Amino acid sequence: MRTKAAVLWEVGTPWSVEEVELADPGPGQVLIRLAATGLCHSDDHAVTGDAPVGLPIVGGHEGAGVVEALGPGVDRVAAGDHVVLAFNFPCGHCRYCADGRSALCYVARRRLAGKAYPSPFSRDGRPISAMGGLGTFSQYTVVPQESLVPIDKDVSFDVAALLGCAVTTGWGAAVHLAGVRPGEHVVVIGCGGVGMNSLQGARTAGADIVVAVDPNPYKREQAATFGATHAVADIPAAKALLEELTHGHLADVAILSVGVGSSALVGQMMTTVGLDGRGVITAVTPGAADAIEMSVVGFTLSQQTLRGNVYGGVNMHRDIGVLLGLYRRGKLNLDELVTRRYTLEDINQGYADMHAGLNLRGVVQL
Ligand SMILES: [Zn+2]
Ligand SMILES: [Zn+2]
Repeated sequence: MRTKAAVLWEVGTPWSVEEVELADPGPGQVLIRLAATGLCHSDDHAVTGDAPVGLPIVGGHEGAGVVEALGPGVDRVAAGDHVVLAFNFPCGHCRYCADGRSALCYVARRRLAGKAYPSPFSRDGRPISAMGGLGTFSQYTVVPQESLVPIDKDVSFDVAALLGCAVTTGWGAAVHLAGVRPGEHVVVIGCGGVGMNSLQGARTAGADIVVAVDPNPYKREQAATFGATHAVADIPAAKALLEELTHGHLADVAILSVGVGSSALVGQMMTTVGLDGRGVITAVTPGAADAIEMSVVGFTLSQQTLRGNVYGGVNMHRDIGVLLGLYRRGKLNLDELVTRRYTLEDINQGYADMHAGLNLRGVVQL
């Protein structure tokens, strides 16, 4: 069949909305009619080349839709089911999955690196990759059944789409990777679609002081809704505020979730945490800026920890249900994350709005 999709042909060019060929679902695969997909910064990193992917590619790695048709042997979903599509779906039996760290699934990493994973998309016989193995910037896609999490039919697709990446990655940074404990002090640097969810994760985990840092006044204003107790414009202001609020102890946890990271920002982030402080780097940093500038002796003698972030350390088959439960009972804001809605044809406008700081999350309705 044919489907309309947004394709990136070359680095530095806009998304091209065009008709492409979509293969039938093979064994274990499912045809999905997508209803909504989120405009994640990671797809834009492919456009800028900050995070190279195999081109051409159908973008989009967070989405929600309806199961249309099943390939042979599919037994986890049925036609008509509403589902979230999640890109980092685990194999269940590699050493990391076996150990309960399924976000680090070795098989998923190989797939995301483009190895041993045939894409269902093509045009004129030329294969087109699928972002995250999903390609959700498309009216239809074909994905393995393991990438799907069935959801209740009363959950809106706009909200559900964000559970595939933004919410999980941000919330998990605070809950799983930083391991925020009740009463702790947390600072979140960069409050877009992912950072707002780190604020929410800090709230879920019972943090006391939660400082949002963002130069954008709109995002600072929104931050309170998502669990921030304070909001400031930059890292020095956050450090000064924490000095005052904590009698000099500073934060227990800092999370860097700006749109584009840098080594300098990582070093600055670590100035906001005190003894035994934990820093989590969620932001993708361009490859050219690999060296981290920070006080290493201070890091050592303060017994600090700095770690990366793969998918918030979540187990999607457990945590997407947890997040929907929190949402249903008013403990997690999801509707408020969706700032603007676009058609697929307007996808480049959506990314322009993201760059202009207008959106917590833009969503394309398909
Ligand atoms: Zn993403
Ligand atoms: Zn695995």
